Amino acid sequence: MYLTFANVRLKLQELRNLSYPNSLFYESLYSNSELLLDSAKKSLSMHARDEYVNAKFVIKTIDNILNKRSPLGLKDSDIALILVTLFDYRFTDDVSNLLIKYSTVLRRKTFSNFLSTMVPIEVSSYCASNCKFCGWKSSNKDMIRLRINDDGFFEQLKYLVNMGFTHIEIASGDDLDFIKNNLNDLIKKIKFYYPQIRLSICLTPLSTNTYNTLLNSGLDAVLTWQETYNKDLFNSFITSGPKSKGINDSIKPVVNGNGFLDRMMSQERALESGLQVGLGVMLGLSDTPGTDILSLILHGKYLIQKFSSNIKPLIIGMPTWNHITTENYDIKNSEVSKFSIENLFPAIASLYFISFEDKKAWIFANCRVSMKTQVNTIQAASVFTSTMVLLGPGAYLKKSLITSSFSRYFSKFSNSKSEISENELLLGEQFKHYFYEHSKYIDEFERHGLSICSDADLLKA
Ligand code: SF4
Repeated sequence: MYLTFANVRLKLQELRNLSYPNSLFYESLYSNSELLLDSAKKSLSMHARDEYVNAKFVIKTIDNILNKRSPLGLKDSDIALILVTLFDYRFTDDVSNLLIKYSTVLRRKTFSNFLSTMVPIEVSSYCASNCKFCGWKSSNKDMIRLRINDDGFFEQLKYLVNMGFTHIEIASGDDLDFIKNNLNDLIKKIKFYYPQIRLSICLTPLSTNTYNTLLNSGLDAVLTWQETYNKDLFNSFITSGPKSKGINDSIKPVVNGNGFLDRMMSQERALESGLQVGLGVMLGLSDTPGTDILSLILHGKYLIQKFSSNIKPLIIGMPTWNHITTENYDIKNSEVSKFSIENLFPAIASLYFISFEDKKAWIFANCRVSMKTQVNTIQAASVFTSTMVLLGPGAYLKKSLITSSFSRYFSKFSNSKSEISENELLLGEQFKHYFYEHSKYIDEFERHGLSICSDADLLKA
């Protein structure tokens, strides 16, 4: 049966209205996105036969959609229409330009020239999960494994706070021992010494009880990237470990668990605890990225509707698939996506920004793309960004000019020697990315008229 936009919209609305736990919404999210995109394609071809759907017609259609946008964001069907044209390479440049142009004006109107920066501190590269695209996958035998101790964490934290960072992300591989035995105390200790810092985690999804505990200890936000909303693709890339199964209240993998669904539903658990949440799909993983992008937007809109009264802005992450440091285990060349991330990054960020209700989403541009693309994306749509990211546990120790031995800052490491070299700290990074000093980023942002503020101030905007 041919499903119209109205049918799909009705179906989505029915699912949104269901009470928690609403696994039905999540289980049908990707297929509903496919239906919406399919309807968009049919709607375009209903107006004119395929060969007549030319650039002029497309520009006029998208321009109309953007000019009719309300402060509540874009309609699902209009987002689908934009995505269909954006990923039709005949129209990509024109649609990108329109999105960026519209979003740049809205970004200025909504957040003025303000921008907030964050930085991750990686705690552990011991990971029990196996995500084929990641340098820390459990199957990677060439990767040095490191877990920092409190001294190692606080040495880096002091260095980064002195540099001006006001948002720190605690990140780690799926090191369940760390989550179970150290995470809560670490959060308490950070907040004791640095109460002004906003603190997020980027770890495996946790239970509502655990999120409650962490919130009470001072946690502010939880960032969980879904990677993809396509179940088969998720399971083909995430082959074992806690990420593929989910974990229970005792921080153990769930026997026969569904990590895909558990991950999608984890933002609700964090929101119920009162935490700010982030969501994202990995660009470069899917050869049909439009379906993942639409699924993310529908997911975000659903959360905004469901938690409307007390939801803080969603942090919309834009992870990308990058090469890893251990070449023997880098599959990028054998399972490559055709999609050019650098070219489309600002346009996708713009679409995210204008799709959501005003002030309900912070688009998070990151250092996985070049500084030029990052700055273009910030000007167009992003108000939250990372700078001088290093992705190895203890990787900032070298920068903070530690003179004594590195090994005293680690509770555990895999090399057979008693000392860790500077080189190993950087080779131990999760994936390759761009790196410049924080001051270089700040100079570049200011040169483009941006003004740095804390994300605590952004929350008041
Ligand atoms: S993406 Fe995360 S969970 Fe997956 S292998 Fe890498 S560190 Fe582990």
